[in-house]
Amino acid sequence: MWTFEVRTRERVCFVDISRDVADLVRGAGDGAVVVFVPHTTAGVTINEDADPSVRADLEMALDRIVPGDLPFRHAEGNSDAHTKAGLMGSSVTVPVVDGDLQLGTWQGIYFAEFDGPRRRRVLVSYLRA
Ligand code: ZN
Repeated sequence: MWTFEVRTRERVCFVDISRDVADLVRGAGDGAVVVFVPHTTAGVTINEDADPSVRADLEMALDRIVPGDLPFRHAEGNSDAHTKAGLMGSSVTVPVVDGDLQLGTWQGIYFAEFDGPRRRRVLVSYLRA
């Protein structure tokens, strides 16, 4: 297993970590890689990496789905972040063939921050086929 750090610079942002993950598995054989985020107010997701406005649209849509002014009970005041992280999920799995991530042409792996800025960790496991 490998770990790397992501420094997020805004409260909500999507950070493309595709290159970090691809660099870790380069040279591995066939298998799959599991990317896991060990946080409760951040997650990981796969989506389009060509047009940055897709990321902005995702942030906007998540804000509409989970408004910050809902009557949350959690005293820490960041339940919107917990809920959005839950919607994204904590892990993604990507097939690896001959050391190359098999992402689709338009896909990227995004660290999804909802309560930044913070220093975050990403755990990456390689499962040999
Ligand atoms: Zn909290």
